[in-house]
Amino acid sequence: MDAAAPSLEPSLATRLERLPGVGTARAEKLAKLGLVTVRDALMHFPRDYKDFSGAHAVADFVEGEHASVAGTVSEVASRTTFAGRSMLTVTIDAADGRVRGVWFSMPFMAKRFERGMKVVLAGQPRRGRGGWEFAHPEVRWLAGDEAAHGSEWLAIYPLAEGVQQSQVRLAVQAALAHAAGICPEAFPEAMLAEKGLLPIEAALRAIHSPSSREAIDAARRRLVYQELFMLQLALRMHRGRQKRAHAAPAITVDARLDSRIRARFPFEFTAAQRRVCGEIAADLAKPEPMNRLLQGDVGSGKTAVAVYALLAAVATPVPAAAKPAGETAATPAAGAKPERFQAAIMAPTELLARQHFASLERLLGGTDVEVQLLVGGQTAKERQKITERIASGATDIVVGTQALVFGSATFRHLGLVVIDEQHRFGVLQRAVLQQGLAEPHVLVMTATPIPRTIAHAVYGDLDVSTLDEQPPGRQPVATYRVTPAELDRWWEFFRGKIAAGRRGYVVVPAVEESKRDLATISSAFEELSQGPLEAFRLGLVHGRLKPAAKSGIMDDFRAGRLDVLVATSVIEVGIDVPEATIMTILDAESFGLAQLHQLRGRVARGPTRGICGAVTGSGDQPHPRVDAFVATCDGFALAEQDLLLRGPGDLVGTRQSGAPPLYLADLLRDSAVVAEARRDALAVFERDPELSDPKYDRLRKLVLDRWGAMLGLGQVG
Ligand code: ADP
Ligand code: MG
Repeated sequence: MDAAAPSLEPSLATRLERLPGVGTARAEKLAKLGLVTVRDALMHFPRDYKDFSGAHAVADFVEGEHASVAGTVSEVASRTTFAGRSMLTVTIDAADGRVRGVWFSMPFMAKRFERGMKVVLAGQPRRGRGGWEFAHPEVRWLAGDEAAHGSEWLAIYPLAEGVQQSQVRLAVQAALAHAAGICPEAFPEAMLAEKGLLPIEAALRAIHSPSSREAIDAARRRLVYQELFMLQLALRMHRGRQKRAHAAPAITVDARLDSRIRARFPFEFTAAQRRVCGEIAADLAKPEPMNRLLQGDVGSGKTAVAVYALLAAVATPVPAAAKPAGETAATPAAGAKPERFQAAIMAPTELLARQHFASLERLLGGTDVEVQLLVGGQTAKERQKITERIASGATDIVVGTQALVFGSATFRHLGLVVIDEQHRFGVLQRAVLQQGLAEPHVLVMTATPIPRTIAHAVYGDLDVSTLDEQPPGRQPVATYRVTPAELDRWWEFFRGKIAAGRRGYVVVPAVEESKRDLATISSAFEELSQGPLEAFRLGLVHGRLKPAAKSGIMDDFRAGRLDVLVATSVIEVGIDVPEATIMTILDAESFGLAQLHQLRGRVARGPTRGICGAVTGSGDQPHPRVDAFVATCDGFALAEQDLLLRGPGDLVGTRQSGAPPLYLADLLRDSAVVAEARRDALAVFERDPELSDPKYDRLRKLVLDRWGAMLGLGQVG
């Protein structure tokens, strides 16, 4: 290296390979983790920490549990194993015993140890022939070479294949050194003081090289707060702009329209449905787009509420001023219907879209409301005819899958969009939806209730309605876990119920409906139809079936021409056959909790109490998911359990859209901070909606950098 090389101008955009000690080879590996610049490394937060204080006593070691122990090197021995690998053994005398560190195929490590050195070994001890042993432990040299890391708490980073902890750690430490003094502070000093938040650099240093548990907590608090505060601010700005820029169609539901719509349904609305319809009607009447999440447990009757909103939209004439430029508001040709707003309902699967279509057709028979279906199974020609009708305004309601409706249709006067069964519909997708078209009202429906604080963080300024009541006569599904030993008895019971006139489902797992899955499904079907269920009329539906075949079988089942439907989780979402009241879920362990609850919802749709057997491959061992599923039918309780078991994961939906994930916020664990950040962001926004006060310059730039492009907030000013 040329000693006179110009020193590197510090910048967050500096590429990692240019940092001392990182180098090209290591940088290439780090890129696999998405770590390219100094900023990336600083924002690569540890997923955990290991106590590296050396404070453990040998007597307290537990096999396989992390421990760290300090001592003096008493022996360094290298040899070659039978297999020809080098093996280094370092013996350390600790306060209350002797332990060994062992390294294979790392001959260079030998040079780093000498008798008499004081070191800390950390890792998972295991009991070897000569006492406790650490295989490839982490080492801290207590004197001299402290460069390995600077603190007693060792950060453990998320890794990718072929990248080691030590490599990530080194890059992060180099990035911290490089960025000293140049990390932009988002918050004005007064705010840091008032909120008791660490300054950004102190927080970054502490998150990567903490000196104590308290330091980690303080750093996390600062970073999580910032993350959520910025997101809230971005969402507010987005919403503010939207309100100013776009007038949404004013759709007024008066008492007459209300009763006319409700009269179309074959049942009385529940009190909860009436309340939620009122909340929606109030939104639709406002000149700004509705942004509402409707959550309600499986079977609570969300569809009826959605249809209510759809009918309100398509009953409303388009005011003359809203017509495309160049057209006069001349009276329509004789016989033509007056122009009214259009509405769309999107489902996650074609099966569900078809079902919505069928029930809308039933509901709207004899009216002049035109409903069109837009799904994958149609020919290009069919589809073109439909999209033309949508574009001309002839079609009132479009039912389809999300990809198709927004991939191929242009509306003339879209007034309302309903998105059904969407627990993954995050802020970002919604932003996209609202930018393309003329700002329709949006109603998102989910059966996977989200705790309120999380809904706020994920959906930002979204209003939430809850259907907290089931239609009259509903009873919780009687749910059992069926162990292998009980399986024969279960089938006997199942057969008895079918013979007595019930219709039923047997659900078989299929991960991706690949060819192999298909073989498994087919053989499961064979086994059932020749074994326990041979006396009955069976149908089989799975994701690989042609749409027409699929809906043909569904129709047969609905009409009672089949007794038992063997299905993959394609029936999970929304399928509504009220006469089906018993279900067997095979291999229940392979389903997620929310999925199990959705599946069970298929047999809780009428007045007869549903029955569900969750067949597990294991005997009596506890299984957290299946046991929780059997224990309660309350979807809210299960959703929270699920979050706890699974973590919030990709709830925000950023992963699919390619957006950066929320770096640190664990929305469940941090729910207090979510609420605080939201409150504070709101207060700042109300005082200064454009963040034009110079003290917010940094904050504004950071918010726009991070979320601006995605939310269409415009250029960094
Ligand atoms: P989900 O909320 O799971 O989407 P659905 O909208 O599919 O539930 O409704 C479940 C079932 O309950 C359907 O068969 C529907 O016709 C029926 N239903 C909905 N509302 C009522 C009501 N108020 N009274 C009686 N049955 C209802
Ligand atoms: Mg539904």
